[in-house]
Amino acid sequence: MSGPASELAHLFRALKAPAAARALPKLADRARSEEWSYEQFAATLLKTETDSRDSHESHGGQARIKAARFPARKTLEEFDFAFQRSLKKTDVLHLGQLDFLHGKENVVLLGPPGTGKTHLAIALGIRACLAGHRVLFKTATEWVALLADAQRHERLDQELDRLQRIPLLVCDEVGYIPFDPQAANLMFMLVSRRYERASLIVTSNKPFSAWGEIFGDEVTATAMIDRLVHHADILSLKGDSYRLKDRDLARPPAAKTREPADRTPRPPPPRPAERLPRAPSSPPSPKQGPPDRSRPANAAPARPTGTPPRRPPTPQGVNFQPAQRGQLSTGLDTEHGWVLGRLWFSC
Ligand code: ADP
Ligand code: MG
Repeated sequence: MSGPASELAHLFRALKAPAAARALPKLADRARSEEWSYEQFAATLLKTETDSRDSHESHGGQARIKAARFPARKTLEEFDFAFQRSLKKTDVLHLGQLDFLHGKENVVLLGPPGTGKTHLAIALGIRACLAGHRVLFKTATEWVALLADAQRHERLDQELDRLQRIPLLVCDEVGYIPFDPQAANLMFMLVSRRYERASLIVTSNKPFSAWGEIFGDEVTATAMIDRLVHHADILSLKGDSYRLKDRDLARPPAAKTREPADRTPRPPPPRPAERLPRAPSSPPSPKQGPPDRSRPANAAPARPTGTPPRRPPTPQGVNFQPAQRGQLSTGLDTEHGWVLGRLWFSC
């Protein structure tokens, strides 16, 4: 550790200010790049520490954060919205007020690796812990392993009941590893059991149009997406990986005839994505005119909650539609009348 860094580490220890110590490197970077005043920098750094102390003292927030098993500590304050320009800061800060949690709604974060999905999922989870809610964080693979274990011991139902009493579960990294049919069914059961009862934050590097492939079955994927997005905020992140921020790897290589890389102007930032509208209970298909009201809102194949969907009788009529530009498809065609149309967003 260099001179000033080790002195700072010593001072933070002496002041017993670990939250400020953790936040310092990123806040200092931001302060430099956003040209904060000294006062603004000092205030933000100190606020990180006082927020952390307040929550610790008043709500046992730190204990809940520990119990949530986040893979790292991340906060909304540390999130650099100038780098991740496809999100509206106000939308994310609004999520930080946790209305979604009180409404038992979900948050879905979609986007390529390194764009900050896990960071935001953790930051929202930490907010929830600090506000007095229990949270549990796992990757999709870990959730499936947990549920498979419960199933092996014939206590899957009890385990789903137990989880239902936790107001917020984070399911990170849907899509990195494809699911076998048993795993897909377990994920479906988790989502289905929590539907309108408790919140989920889900992150995925794949658009919904690819979830049929991930889950090996378009019917399961569509029924799951349907429940997930019915009451959800869906944020679509775009752009370069933050992990490669200070390396040229994130940018296209400069042509030989160009200026040296450090003087090459960066490509224009991506246009901000808009928040997806809430999925209507029976969204009309753009091709098909008014919604089919013959089925109840958010209709899916009639079956008891928690059991995986069965394939329809004429599978050749079922058509998983890949997303086109400007579209997120929830998956199936509407020929059977039980699939729920599309979500639209701006690319
Ligand atoms: P993803 O889950 O989308 O692959 P992560 O959330 O894991 O990406 O981000 C990778 C790393 O980059 C993490 O250390 C995270 O804190 C950091 N990071 C990503 N985006 C931002 C951002 N906009 N501001 C600050 N840190 C960021
Ligand atoms: Mg991630």
